[in-house]
Amino acid sequence: MSKARDGKPDIVVFIVHRPSKCSDCGLEIHPGDFLHVHDEIALCLACADLDHLEFLERGDTAVTRRSRKYSAMSAVVVEWSKYGKRYERQGILVEPEALDRAVAESDADADVRAARAARSAVRRDLHDDRRGARASVRDRIESVLDAWRGES
Ligand SMILES: [Zn+2]
Repeated sequence: MSKARDGKPDIVVFIVHRPSKCSDCGLEIHPGDFLHVHDEIALCLACADLDHLEFLERGDTAVTRRSRKYSAMSAVVVEWSKYGKRYERQGILVEPEALDRAVAESDADADVRAARAARSAVRRDLHDDRRGARASVRDRIESVLDAWRGES
């Protein structure tokens, strides 16, 4: 089993494609449900003590990284890919509080990024306006000079 960078071993949870059954409580696990395998025994998330965790789909790397950092316990969710012929990461399971905190912080970051982008756009506009203004003054001078040249 692979180790996460922070030294915590990765817990792996599978999304099953075939109906299965929890070896402990006998719960039916339907295709698309989560299944944890421990010592080659299939367990539902409740029996694996993972049912308090929330699923975060892959995609937002900042939220994923932060959730894992804030969550005392996290699991990697994988699903067998017929095409890739291997297990592919679908997301992670993390504590809801960790997920909330990660989302809140990332939203704040996104606001800062958006504000920064808006500010630099305004700055660009001002710059363009000034260039435009300078150009039109030069045009006016040219036309005055032209007129003057034409008269003489
Ligand atoms: Zn069970």
